[in-house]
Amino acid sequence: MPEPKLWIDGKWVKSQSGKTFPTFNPTTGEVIAQIPLAGQKEIDMAVAAARKAYPAWSQMLARERSMYMMKVAASFRKNAAEISRLETLEHGSILSLAEHVPMVAAEQFEWAAGRAESLMGDLIPTLKDTLTYLKREPVGTCAIITPWNHAIIMMAVKLAQALATGNTCVLKPPSVNSLLGLKLAEVMEQAELPPGVLNVVTGPGSTVGNALAGHPGVDLVGFTGSSETGKEIMAAGAKTMKRMIMELGGKNPVIVLKDADIDAAVNHHAPRQCDNAGQHCSGAGRFYVHQKVYDEFLQKYIAASKKVIVGDPADKKTFMGPLANREHRDRVKAYIETGVEEGATLALGGKRSTISPMNKGFYIMPTVITGVKQHMKVAREEIFGPVSIIMEPFTGEEEVIALANDNSYGLCATVWTKDIAKAVQFTNRLHAGTVNVNTQVLTNDLPWGGFKESGIGKEGGEAGMLDYTQQKMVCIKIG
Ligand code: NDP
Repeated sequence: MPEPKLWIDGKWVKSQSGKTFPTFNPTTGEVIAQIPLAGQKEIDMAVAAARKAYPAWSQMLARERSMYMMKVAASFRKNAAEISRLETLEHGSILSLAEHVPMVAAEQFEWAAGRAESLMGDLIPTLKDTLTYLKREPVGTCAIITPWNHAIIMMAVKLAQALATGNTCVLKPPSVNSLLGLKLAEVMEQAELPPGVLNVVTGPGSTVGNALAGHPGVDLVGFTGSSETGKEIMAAGAKTMKRMIMELGGKNPVIVLKDADIDAAVNHHAPRQCDNAGQHCSGAGRFYVHQKVYDEFLQKYIAASKKVIVGDPADKKTFMGPLANREHRDRVKAYIETGVEEGATLALGGKRSTISPMNKGFYIMPTVITGVKQHMKVAREEIFGPVSIIMEPFTGEEEVIALANDNSYGLCATVWTKDIAKAVQFTNRLHAGTVNVNTQVLTNDLPWGGFKESGIGKEGGEAGMLDYTQQKMVCIKIG
């Protein structure tokens, strides 16, 4: 593998300090590569390059930028095999997921290319003898800071929206997926994106990410990650009043009413909770199941969870691979232990496996915890792993709405019922940015974003594109 370098102003550059940090293969725990650690000098260079590129890029016709976006999409497809390989190597993604992600990334750019061309303004007939209109302009230079779950998709969705609307960017990829971040720079290089439009600097969030969030040359921070980090970024950006787009954590309630199709609910959630080793912001954080169907739900849910095939992500039969890194594996394990200490019941899993390769890598077996009470830590905090939290059964609908809303997060919620009128009442009263009934959807033409401490702004859909623009009012006296 060639020595990884930073991507700044259309060139591959070394970090002047010469310092590096390792990335690990989560399946085996072995070191994969030494990644350059960007210092303040490289951060300043990257921001300066993005600012230098901004006038030409922002003033380009939307159609011309869209042509570049289409070239980026084609470049993602051309590099699909290598991206998939890195996705499994660096993140432990199973083959089917690894093969899927470059295509999703390509689609993000194709969608943004079409959507950016049709962002319109408004003519306002407000005053006599004036021409008054509202137009959309890019915000400027964006720092894009992303997490390690679905790393390439997270980077692609933000960059597609930011770049297509005329902003220039500095990307800080998640440290554990630095090779994927640098591969994305190569994808852009092959698409012949003008120098400085995208720059990639690698290093820890606490230094590189924080420096970008507070950098006077950055106008907007597009961030996906935990709510705690989001708050730190907002504090760092407050000094220069930066725009913030925050896609943060969740503790998503799933409510199963007594008339629900239990098989459908189980067959949807039990495998999904182990998909990507449960590392989904949209995963189920808490199950509230009506007392009348609780036993049936639990028995079927545990049976379905036992069927999940855990193993080497490179094996076609595997459905669930390792967690993305050692620290996160330890964090998830600590949550399981806390749940038991607090008095909940470990109904399935909770342990590492003794079978190879799971004994070496960062695995946690599918886990189900039952009898969870509202005040317990595992009911309140995001776990972000293959762990299902089954709350004590409920009986009243008012009661369950109050319980579901009783959390600082408000990312998404799901309701299972055959009664459509009831479903609408629940969707109206649940405090979450997305509410699904008898399904879960997430596509790039729909906006995604949380209420409360789950975030600010939207990703995807027209709302997501508009968040990377600002509105200008123009009034011209003509009479
Ligand atoms: P983190 O918040 O730990 O990290 C996210 C990114 O922020 C990483 O690139 C990290 O760098 C960087 N970072 C860390 N500290 C700082 C700082 N002080 N200043 C600037 N940047 C910083 O999240 P995880 O990577 O652990 O991802 C999991 C979280 O992401 C979960 O809470 C999940 O819910 C959330 N998420 C939300 C989504 C949504 O759409 N709402 C979608 C996907 C995930 P480094 O890698 O070096 O630590």
